[in-house]
Amino acid sequence: MRNDIVHPGADELTYEIRQIVDVAKKLEKTGIDIYWENIGDPVAKGERIEEWMKEKIIDLINKENDIFAYSPTMGDLKAREYIAYERNIEGGIQITTDDILFFNGLGDAISKVYAYLKKEARVLIPDPTYPTHSSAEKAHSNKKGFTYRLDSKNSWYPDLADMREKVEKNPEISGITIINPDNPTGMVYPKSVMREIVRLAREYQLFIISDEIYSNIFYGGADHKKIASVIDDVPAIAMRGISKEFPWPGARCGWVEFYNRDKDNVFDRYCQSLIDAKMLEVCSTTLPQKMIPIIMSDERYYPYLKKKNKRYEKRSKELYETLKDVDGLIVNEARGAFYSAVVFEKGLLKGDEGVEIENSEARTIVSPFLKKEGPPDKRFVYNLLASTGICVVPLSSGFNSTEQGFRITLLECDDKKFSYILQKLKTFIEKYIS
Ligand code: PLP
Repeated sequence: MRNDIVHPGADELTYEIRQIVDVAKKLEKTGIDIYWENIGDPVAKGERIEEWMKEKIIDLINKENDIFAYSPTMGDLKAREYIAYERNIEGGIQITTDDILFFNGLGDAISKVYAYLKKEARVLIPDPTYPTHSSAEKAHSNKKGFTYRLDSKNSWYPDLADMREKVEKNPEISGITIINPDNPTGMVYPKSVMREIVRLAREYQLFIISDEIYSNIFYGGADHKKIASVIDDVPAIAMRGISKEFPWPGARCGWVEFYNRDKDNVFDRYCQSLIDAKMLEVCSTTLPQKMIPIIMSDERYYPYLKKKNKRYEKRSKELYETLKDVDGLIVNEARGAFYSAVVFEKGLLKGDEGVEIENSEARTIVSPFLKKEGPPDKRFVYNLLASTGICVVPLSSGFNSTEQGFRITLLECDDKKFSYILQKLKTFIEKYIS
């Protein structure tokens, strides 16, 4: 090329959760059965959208020609009215339809929220975290990211002292991201922890990004509260969507809610820039937006979610019971979303472990990922994949983490298969670290 056309942040755009799929597909061709525990797509894991939901979608398609039209830039008005109404009866901050902006999935929202920040304005991100947040944040500034620790030895709650220290020492930090319920840890934060984060944000005049895509997926005694319930006068953006709940990830539909635009002119201008950017794109997908009030207000919706949450709870407990006594592992019982993050104690993995991979073709396929220089948990994950077919994601390279471990999903619909996978995983780990 005459000029270098590559964006300086291009190297930050990595998504290990999907990259491992290419390798697993090659292994599958060698005759290995793959157990897909890497991707948080409930539909791909066999969940089926309820028949009554499908009927309602078909009904709308037959009845309303508008579903084929563009929607208003901020989103379908009835959908925004429904969301604002639901938000306001829950208590906490009150919003109007003008505080809601639809995107083509939260992936789209996350990319834009960071991309439209001033380059020098940084956002403090959890470690470990869902990689779209960390990659988008780093790509926007083209500099190393700032992270705060989620503490695997304290139920994966945010380390508030670490968060405060990072904020104090780095004046460029302008916002804090939380994911609640969390991906990859499966944790739900108590209201007291959220209050502390809000207090810190207020003290340093920061804004908060709260990714709440799993806000209706919690169990095991967790009492999830949205950031709206504690935000008070602090500027914030809450993010929600239907990919995980309905579940309808292929709809590419999510939205953000702006809180306290009127409390800060700079925040207000920034929110407006996100709306203006969406206007240049015209709008987001129409049909799923129109389905939101129809599905969510149906009396069958919340009982349906409750039933699904029971299943995730059962998986979470079984995973915890199976792995909790394995020496060298830190395991927490997930209470939200549908993931569990398992950590190897510090120093346990040296990077030179390995097992004899019997299938020689499989050995060749994964060999580029077994390099000693690479992260030891990545080496573990590829050894596991080639030896057992179990496909999980390393915490280090997959979730931008300083921890060594892996994330596994709790989405398997077949009880027996899940138990089988867990036993196989346990046996492999014991052999690997012995
Ligand atoms: N936020 C979190 C925490 C997620 O786990 C995911 C998907 O896994 C997303 C956002 C993206 O969701 P969407 O399907 O709406 O793009």
